[in-house]
Amino acid sequence: MQQLTSNDKISNRKLYLQMLTSSADSYDIIVIGGGATGLGIALDATARGYKTLLLEQADFAKGTSSRSTKLVHGGVRYLAQGDVKLVREASIERGLLHQNAPHLVKDQTFIVPVYTLWDSLKYTIGLKLYDWIAGKLGLGDSVFISKKKTLSRMPGILAKGLKGGVSYHDGQFDDSRLAINLAQSIIENDGDAINYVKVINLLKDENGNVNGVLASDTETGETFSFKAKAVVNATGVFVDDILMMDKPGSDKTICVSQGVHIVLNKEFYPSEEALMIPKTSDGRVLFAVPWHHKVVVGTTDTPIEEASLEPHALEKEISFILQTAGAYLEKKPKRSDVLSVFAGLRPLAAPQKGEQKTKEISRSHKIIVSPSHLFTILGGKWTTYRKMGEDMVNRIEKDLGWQHIKPATANLSIHGFEKNMDWNDPLYFYGSDAKLIRQQMNGDANVWISEELKNS
Ligand SMILES: Cc1cc2nc3c(=O)[nH]c(=O)nc-3n(C[C@H](O)[C@H](O)[C@H](O)COP(=O)(O)OP(=O)(O)OC[C@H]3O[C@@H](n4cnc5c(N)ncnc54)[C@H](O)[C@@H]3O)c2cc1C
Repeated sequence: MQQLTSNDKISNRKLYLQMLTSSADSYDIIVIGGGATGLGIALDATARGYKTLLLEQADFAKGTSSRSTKLVHGGVRYLAQGDVKLVREASIERGLLHQNAPHLVKDQTFIVPVYTLWDSLKYTIGLKLYDWIAGKLGLGDSVFISKKKTLSRMPGILAKGLKGGVSYHDGQFDDSRLAINLAQSIIENDGDAINYVKVINLLKDENGNVNGVLASDTETGETFSFKAKAVVNATGVFVDDILMMDKPGSDKTICVSQGVHIVLNKEFYPSEEALMIPKTSDGRVLFAVPWHHKVVVGTTDTPIEEASLEPHALEKEISFILQTAGAYLEKKPKRSDVLSVFAGLRPLAAPQKGEQKTKEISRSHKIIVSPSHLFTILGGKWTTYRKMGEDMVNRIEKDLGWQHIKPATANLSIHGFEKNMDWNDPLYFYGSDAKLIRQQMNGDANVWISEELKNS
């Protein structure tokens, strides 16, 4: 079989799959799941030099990873919950992602409008602490702003009783594009990543240890097996399905919580600075963030029994968002103003003692190693995907007695890396690929294909 370049692998799935299935090679690590978590693990593994294969059953980021609020953030809410460790970790990761994917992560100013003097004081101090935790990796300083400035920077905000605002900085990113760029980076670093290949069973050796997967091409129904020294279950809200393949009747390890966003026209909040509502009636936070000339508003936290790849927003979640945002806006959005709705499912580690509600469950990640050496990862955030990858590969090395190889992703540029982006360019999120996309738009259909493949 002829050698394929990384562009050939990306642009010709059929040939790529043929190449993968015709090879009798065994992998060091197979990762199941091509969301933020699996992509982060596969990139870490391949960057350390491990022979790695990632399998995704649908599109990359088809699950939760394309339905986030699109914030690369330390997590102001976790600070209020006293989870300083998570805020510190996420703040460091926010800085690294801004450095490694500058074409996708932009500095976003948020403003918390305040209506009492106590809130002015509380949020000014709280957000200073948030800056301090991020240290040098912070994106900008928080500051209290007067009522007059708040009204001019937040047109559409409820003026009655307003005392002022507290502005702070976090990152905003394109979640599904980052997932695609991570898959490209895996392939460019000599790893393999392919989608529309679903893992349907685990393979085991004579001692009962997992040593590969049985997978099916969801386009053709064809099945094939892939062998590996370590298999990672990074399937988000579906981790229990894979654990059941390992040991039927296994206990549930995750708890699924749905989060919904709505998209509104900018007329309701015509600002480039995001609105942060610090305390909703159910004790959470709600954001209204500018996004491609519209505004994305969310989210909710609703426990869900059954995970699905196509979750449905509940009407009561949409009403909750409309009401909560409406309480802060002069022009109240109605149901008929909702342009679109998207729902995502949080793969949270099942509650520990004392945690009653899904909003109280820690968003930090957790690794479980089964007696069969199946490695499973739960929880986490998009923002911390890189650290999750690093932690998982360290754990595999430790548990399987491999020699430790230094992690290499902290300073690894992600595919599309381009500095000084023009955020008004409608193709900005393609980063360094934008010129090729423009060539393609101008009629050159073969921009991604190597000369060898064109001539074959
Ligand atoms: C509403 C909401 C808002 C959020 N906002 C933010 C935010 O602003 N910032 C932030 O940092 N985090 C945010 N998060 C958290 C973040 O989005 C998630 O932590 C992250 O996307 C989870 O990624 P994952 O890879 O674990 O899961 P997923 O993205 O769901 O990926 C799992 C993948 O596994 C695949 N899969 C399942 N079974 C198989 C199989 N048998 N074979 C092959 N593939 C399989 C699925 O198709 C899926 O693509 C938010 C979460 C939600 C729900």
